[in-house]
Amino acid sequence: MKFRSKPYPKTWFEILLSLIILILLPVTFVFDVFFMVPALHEPYSFWYCFNVVLAVFLNFSIAANMLAGMLIDTSVDEQCRPPPEGDAARLEWRHCAICDRLAPPRSWHCKLCGVCILRRDHHCNIVGSCVGHHTMRYFVCFVAQFAFGSIYSTIYQLYFMLGYNYTLLVTQLVCGPFPLFELVTINVFSWKLLAVYTTCSAFCYYLPHVLHGTVRFDSGPKYDCGLAYNLRCVLGERMFLVLLSPFIVSELPTDGYSFQINPNHITAKSVMAV
Ligand SMILES: [Zn+2]
Ligand SMILES: [Zn+2]
Repeated sequence: MKFRSKPYPKTWFEILLSLIILILLPVTFVFDVFFMVPALHEPYSFWYCFNVVLAVFLNFSIAANMLAGMLIDTSVDEQCRPPPEGDAARLEWRHCAICDRLAPPRSWHCKLCGVCILRRDHHCNIVGSCVGHHTMRYFVCFVAQFAFGSIYSTIYQLYFMLGYNYTLLVTQLVCGPFPLFELVTINVFSWKLLAVYTTCSAFCYYLPHVLHGTVRFDSGPKYDCGLAYNLRCVLGERMFLVLLSPFIVSELPTDGYSFQINPNHITAKSVMAV
């Protein structure tokens, strides 16, 4: 595994987005664990402990997956794998005019990262890096855990806020005393709703890609080699165990320079050629 030499965000938009996540994630954690959960459950009861452990696990895992997406290098490395010899083998490779070299199939140049990215899907502004062959797993875990955590926490907070007297809240806003805690609660709730919307939208968009073994720039089912293989190409040999920790080593079935091709796709092409 290689690390990026310049792993920091490149634009103001990326800095802003990563700061929003890195500030609001701990703020939400503190609110949930130190205010919301103790107000709903007896300290050290089963549900109190369950929710605290879940919050610690999710926040740590989301932050660690985000950090891995920032740090891990998924660019084309000519020294690791030079272009193959022979014209036939090079057919799948294409010339990158910016890097001025041959790049492997499914790799694309990223203007922001300034390199060709292996099995490139997109440039993620939250981590300031591309989601590609070696970082796909961390991106998928980040989105899945963020979506689950947001939904779970929002439903819990909805239950927590049911007891609020909103008429009294409006009166206090106008006449005092100023309801600081209630306003913080409503702000945290708004951020959670936004998180639910964005992460669930991202999850619904990327799930079909993961299941069908495609990335954004693939056309057709050329690399769709069955559900189990497609999942291994993203999560690695340990499959769903990677959801437990970003530190679990899970080898990918390919090196990102050559890929198994769907045999039915070849047949379809051959038939067309005939
Ligand atoms: Zn390039
Ligand atoms: Zn990029």
